[in-house]
Amino acid sequence: MKTVFITGITGQDGAYLSQLLLNKGYYVTGLIRKSEIINTKRLDYLGITSKIRFEKCDLLYIQEIISLIKKYHPIEIYNLAAQSSVGKSFHEPIETLNFNIISTANLLESIRVTDTNIKFYQASSSEMFGSVNTLPLKEDSIFHPVSPYGISKATSHWITINYRESFGLFTTSGILFNHESALRENHFIIKKIIRTALDIKNGKTDILEVGNIDIRRDFGYAPKYVEAMYLMMQHDTPDDYIISSGISLSIREIIYYIFERLELEKSRIVINKKYFRPNEIENIYGDSSKAKIQLGWEYEMSFFDVLEILIQEEEKVKKIY
Ligand code: NAP
Repeated sequence: MKTVFITGITGQDGAYLSQLLLNKGYYVTGLIRKSEIINTKRLDYLGITSKIRFEKCDLLYIQEIISLIKKYHPIEIYNLAAQSSVGKSFHEPIETLNFNIISTANLLESIRVTDTNIKFYQASSSEMFGSVNTLPLKEDSIFHPVSPYGISKATSHWITINYRESFGLFTTSGILFNHESALRENHFIIKKIIRTALDIKNGKTDILEVGNIDIRRDFGYAPKYVEAMYLMMQHDTPDDYIISSGISLSIREIIYYIFERLELEKSRIVINKKYFRPNEIENIYGDSSKAKIQLGWEYEMSFFDVLEILIQEEEKVKKIY
């Protein structure tokens, strides 16, 4: 039986990755938080909740992971669980560092002591690069993270590499740049802009409040980015791969595009210092040629086309959350 474990299955990437793996015939087990309510809204939206087996597991306790590995014998583990908000990480640095780093270490150590044939995927992030001098960013570019989130991801990334190099485990890291979908949490910037712009259009709110809109990011489409995760795990050898569109856009350009598309006045865009971060990456974009050549990962989408998809899908998603 081809069983895979996914941590963070209830998040954006977890939902799209589950859909992809179910379509490929895997048995998907989601390791989820030990809370009363399971957040299945994204899996419900994709219509796949009933096809997934859920196991409550505190990733900060290694014995719980080991027990589940012994019970199900997964062949692959995708580690997507994380406190994933850069902004929130400045307010909750200890929780972010503690959970993001220790959960990764526990998963890797669980593999080492149970079954070294299990393949491991780590959700690394472009935020690891932080303050950059040379663009585009490649797999061997220097890390200088500028947020607790970036530091937690850089540490987890190096732990992942260490288990590959020290113990010969199949551990692979996808260094993913920002990727969006209608299933993003509402506080993430692209989702917030689209939802608020539609609310303005429908007379439900008056203004869009944002922070520094002159920062530039490399944005892509989440359902296409999870394909790269799968390809990395099927490759002959484990490695690190940048997954990006290769182009950066400013938040200002994106807001203007959406406002023009929905025929909204720009006077409704309000800059609020409250949303500025203590430290911020100015501009960032990646070079995914390694993933394209070695994995055959294909990505040609313009982010403006992605925005069209997200605007169209927003009304549908809004009924769910
Ligand atoms: P997301 O939507 O925020 O999902 C995060 C997932 O982690 C959720 O399933 C959440 O569970 C789980 N989680 C958070 N804290 C947890 C805790 N203390 N215990 C157990 N589970 C916890 O994130 P995403 O966009 O899908 O991203 C997936 C991964 O890729 C994350 O590790 C993220 O940091 C990384 N990444 C994302 C991007 C991006 O642009 N999306 C780029 C680079 C890297 P609940 O639903 O229960 O809260």
